[in-house]
Amino acid sequence: MTKSIMQTADRVIAATYKRFPIVLKRGQGCTVWDTQGRKYTDFVAGIAVCNLGHAHPRIADAVARQAKELVHVSNLYYTIPQTELAQLLVKNSFADRVFFGNSGAEANEAAIKLARKYFNDKGQPQRSGIVSMEKSFHGRTMATLSATGQEKIKKGFDPVLDGFSFVPFGDIEALKAAIDDRTCAVMLEPIQGEGGIRCPAPDFLKKVRELCDRCGVLMILDEIQTGMGRTGKLFAHEHDGVTPDIMTLAKALANGLPIGAMLATETVAAAFGPGAHASTFGGTPLVTAAALETLKMIAGEGIVDRARTTGDYFKDALKQLKLKHHCILEVRGKGLLLGIQLDRLADELVPVLMEKGFLVNCVQGDTLRFVPPLIVEKNEIDALIRCLDELLK
Ligand SMILES: *Cc1c(COP(=O)(O)O)cnc(C)c1O
Repeated sequence: MTKSIMQTADRVIAATYKRFPIVLKRGQGCTVWDTQGRKYTDFVAGIAVCNLGHAHPRIADAVARQAKELVHVSNLYYTIPQTELAQLLVKNSFADRVFFGNSGAEANEAAIKLARKYFNDKGQPQRSGIVSMEKSFHGRTMATLSATGQEKIKKGFDPVLDGFSFVPFGDIEALKAAIDDRTCAVMLEPIQGEGGIRCPAPDFLKKVRELCDRCGVLMILDEIQTGMGRTGKLFAHEHDGVTPDIMTLAKALANGLPIGAMLATETVAAAFGPGAHASTFGGTPLVTAAALETLKMIAGEGIVDRARTTGDYFKDALKQLKLKHHCILEVRGKGLLLGIQLDRLADELVPVLMEKGFLVNCVQGDTLRFVPPLIVEKNEIDALIRCLDELLK
């Protein structure tokens, strides 16, 4: 069965993903099982998506209940879960209004459109430029890949959209030089996930905020990977004591159901009036019921604090490992968004770790990324550390 699934998939599914040769069938908490019955501790969690773990009974119940009541209507009508989710997001963030889409890329598309529309409505349509960061990742649609600071993601898709420029992540002087009277927004991730778990200097976000205020441009934070408790705060920018004008969320927002959200202040969101933007599936009752249950749990049950303390424990263990193994160049990240950069290709380690029962993923070729469910146990971390210790010898 396993072989035939892999062969069929390779024949009938677009070949955009390089896949590992296992077929995953079931999950529970931080564990997933393949069709051969082999068990893996999941340090990928759907790439920072399943923050509450797999098959969470409360999410499963919320989905089942909602599926029996109302899956989809249209945004022509009000629905209860969408309203309650937006209300809870607003209550727990800087934002006043939320637009729902279906993915991270769509949330970022909405953010880019809103920033342009905001200045257009202010009679400054020439302000359409967006300054983004090198090594950033904002998605794969045309606008979001145009905003992405990685050539390999744009290759073959020219012409990309006009109006995007890039500065080194963390370089406030370069950012200052890049902003001009045609700029509408600065767009960045608080910690670059796909870019290799890169954290800027502790005061960088604050300086970006001050610079944006001084230049009268909007600050867009892409918290698609860093949000929902991942870094030990509900949103990563809370570590920095600043708030953006626009924030995007997706990945963990519904613990695995497809959703994206763009949150903005009242002043900025005012540029999105009736007809300005839309999405057929955006914020359906089904996914928003799952997201509502997810957010209630993450915002309300000590899970964010737990992500912080478990993350500290994990990071310390990785630092200990670095002292023993010189092939580890750097330990990076915050909370449970962690990575180790090696002095060699890290992607060769991924199948070996899989063989030993750990799902881990590699970014930028030389960095192992660890983004387990926020409910990961210390003994699961210890087991991974022991395995890495063996393998790096
Ligand atoms: C994953 C990710 C995206 C894209 O999300 P999709 O749902 O794949 O479109 C955008 N920005 C960041 C920071 C991400 O991690």
